Amino acid sequence: MFQKAMVPLNNLSRAISRDRTEINSAIAEVLSSGFVLMGPKLKQFETELAEFLNAKEVIGVATGTDALELAMKAAMPTGKTTVVTAANAGGYTTTAANRAGFNLVYADVNSDSLCIDLENVKKSMTQDVGVVVITHLYGLLTDFSELIHFCREQGIALIEDTAQALGANRNGVFAGTLGDIGTTSFYPTKNLGALGDGGAVFTNSSELADKIRSLRQYGWSSKYDVELSGGVNSRLDDIQAAILSIRLPMLNTFNRRRREIISRYREAVIGNSIHVLPADGDHHTGHLAVALTDQREVYVSELRKLDIQTDIHFPILDYRQKAWRDDSVHNENAEKATQQIFTLPCFPEMTEEEVSRVAIALKNISSKL
Ligand SMILES: *Cc1c(COP(=O)(O)O)cnc(C)c1O
Repeated sequence: MFQKAMVPLNNLSRAISRDRTEINSAIAEVLSSGFVLMGPKLKQFETELAEFLNAKEVIGVATGTDALELAMKAAMPTGKTTVVTAANAGGYTTTAANRAGFNLVYADVNSDSLCIDLENVKKSMTQDVGVVVITHLYGLLTDFSELIHFCREQGIALIEDTAQALGANRNGVFAGTLGDIGTTSFYPTKNLGALGDGGAVFTNSSELADKIRSLRQYGWSSKYDVELSGGVNSRLDDIQAAILSIRLPMLNTFNRRRREIISRYREAVIGNSIHVLPADGDHHTGHLAVALTDQREVYVSELRKLDIQTDIHFPILDYRQKAWRDDSVHNENAEKATQQIFTLPCFPEMTEEEVSRVAIALKNISSKL
C-alpha cells in the first residue's frame, strides 16, 4: 500500500518557495544599500505597518517577547510594579515581565473566549497593578471595551499582545490599537512571518513611542547619550523588514484562508464530542485551529494513525511551569481548557487535499464518539 504524506501542522518551505523571487531581490536591495540595521527598509516597513493598522507609530524590534518587555517598561506608571495577564498564553508575557523586573498576577480567562475579561481582571486587582496584558489568543479579537474603560479609569496601562492576532479588526479598528500599546511577533510561523526573529510595538501615543524607540537602543536619546535606564539592544534588521514588506500586502488573504480552513473543520464534525473554536469574521485571524474535547487522547491518536499532526497550545499554564511554579494560584477556566485543547493543521499554504483529509478524519472520528 502506498504511504500518504504527513499533513503537517505547518510547513514554512511552501511560503518560502512561493515568495522566493521577491525575497531574493529584496535581500539584494538591502545588500546594495549597505544599510543592514536601522536603515531605509526598516523605516519603510514601519510606515507600511502603521498604515495597515491605522496606528500612529510602529517600532520594529528583535522579537515579540522583546516587544512585550519594552512595552511594559514604557507603560508601567511610576510607583507601580505589577502586571496582570493570563496564564494560558504560552509564557511570553511572564518571560518579558521577569526580564523587566515586574511582578505578575494571573487573571482567569473567560470560558468561551479563553481570554481575560473585566470580571476576572477585577478579581486579580491589587494596589500595585500598573499594567494589564491581554493576549488575543489563537487570533480572536474579543470585544474588550469594558476592560479598556476600566483600565483608563484606574490609570492602568493596557497592552495588547497581537502575536497571534495581527490583522484582526472590528469595523476597521485593529487589534493592538485599542489599548495603550500593541505588540506583535514576526516569528516565522506567525500570520505575518519573517525568515528569522522579529517583532514590533505599535501605539497612538508619541510619548510612549519615543520611550520605546529609546529603549530598543540602549536607552539612548541620541547616539551614545543614555537617557533612560532599562534600555536593551533589540532591533528589527533591514533584511527581515524587507521580507515583511513583501508579505504584508498578502496578510488579509492569508488570514481569510486560515478562517476558511477552520470553517471546514467546524462543518465536518458530527455530534458534540468536540468543539472546534470558531474563526468566523474579520475579528479573527485564524492563527490556530484549536479544538476542545474531553476525549483528546482518542482524537490525537486517531489523527496520528492517519498521519495528521497535532499539537497543544499551550500544554502548561505559566504558574504550573517548573521555573515559575506557584501553587497558590488556581484559574479554573484556564485549567479546564488546558486539559481539553489541541491544535489541528492550519496554514495558508495547505492544499485542498490536506484540508479535506483533516476534515474527513474529524468527521469519521467524531461520528463514532
Ligand atoms: C509567538 C508569541 C510571542 C513571542 O514572540 P517571539 O517573537 O517568539 O518572542 C508572544 N506572544 C504570543 C501570544 C505568541 O504567540
